[in-house]
Amino acid sequence: MNPFNFTQPKDVEGVLSQLANGARPIAGGTNLLDLMKEGVMTPSQVVDINAIATAGLDRIEDAGDGGLRLGALARNADTAYHPLVRERYPLLSSAILAGASPQLRNMATNGGNLLQRTRCVYFYDAGVPCNKREPGTGCPAKHGVNRQHAILGASEHCIATHPSDMCVALRALDAVVHVRAKDGEREIPFGEFHRLPGERPELDSTLRPGELITHIALPDAARFVDHSAYIKVRERLSYAFALVSVAAALDLDGDTIRAARIALGGVAHKPWRIEEAERELEGRQAGEAAFTAAAERILQGARGWGQNDFKLPLAKNAIVQALMSATRGTAYARGEKE
Ligand SMILES: Cc1cc2nc3c(=O)[nH]c(=O)nc-3n(C[C@H](O)[C@H](O)[C@H](O)COP(=O)(O)OP(=O)(O)OC[C@H]3O[C@@H](n4cnc5c(N)ncnc54)[C@H](O)[C@@H]3O)c2cc1C
Repeated sequence: MNPFNFTQPKDVEGVLSQLANGARPIAGGTNLLDLMKEGVMTPSQVVDINAIATAGLDRIEDAGDGGLRLGALARNADTAYHPLVRERYPLLSSAILAGASPQLRNMATNGGNLLQRTRCVYFYDAGVPCNKREPGTGCPAKHGVNRQHAILGASEHCIATHPSDMCVALRALDAVVHVRAKDGEREIPFGEFHRLPGERPELDSTLRPGELITHIALPDAARFVDHSAYIKVRERLSYAFALVSVAAALDLDGDTIRAARIALGGVAHKPWRIEEAERELEGRQAGEAAFTAAAERILQGARGWGQNDFKLPLAKNAIVQALMSATRGTAYARGEKE
């Protein structure tokens, strides 16, 4: 591991000063430390942000309008099991619990989850070219090991996927990321937080240097509570990243769809959502015909790279299955009801 300076400020201002000087924040460390040990990320300054949790960054709070504020330093486990999250956002709770392992979820923070990096094997191997790790060196994944890789929104420069489960639900739920830097604060709608690789695959998000995620705001989603499902297809039943995942939520009037939310993980450089497909479901009968049409719309333009060709039919089937499961009810989808 490269040598680095390490600081542990006790207040938010201290952290923001370190960030303004180019320090890399560390929260749970479950991703950053691995990347540093592998020589994939080599920050010369690291700032531990855990001590500022007491400034409220580890809280999960009622926003007073039916929504919630999830502190950036709240642990993934505490978030998934929080009574208000379980009651108001069962979709988010299910998505978080589908990720990693209990030990990891106890350490991993909400802010860190958003900024975890791709699991592309070439990105993780500092001995081979990778445009994301070292811009301009190439993308061996396009003609190599690409079983996990993107089928949507990729570029010639990078076909990596974003690996988070939590973020797929946050995208479906219209979350907003709140960030703070020395010179002010701003809000980033979740759909604009992660980016597609395009010409700059080294950039995963639109977070600017010096910015700290303080919390994630969730708007009221009461109308989706009874009909939601998170489906994750992976190589084994636990402790594996998604090949394809789907967060689906429906607002139903009997069998008629009033509104729908559908986001996909494991298929692109960011959680994938096509809002037009959701609008096209409005007023239709919930069922296989409507859901298949939505899946086809969402996957328009999808392409495989060889080893991941199977993701095209898999994603289509997973979308339909998630929506069918949401129709039956959240309790059914969570295995709480036969
Ligand atoms: C074996 C293994 C299996 C896993 N399986 C899954 C899985 O199935 N699904 C899944 O979703 N995840 C999975 N994960 C990933 C895990 O969820 C992430 O490692 C974790 O969420 C990262 O959170 P952290 O607090 O540890 O982040 P850290 O490692 O501390 O940081 C990650 C990144 O976020 C930045 N950062 C952290 N907090 C902030 C902040 N507040 N503001 C600005 N920047 C910040 C850091 O600088 C760093 O770049 C797995 C991880 C491992 C090791």
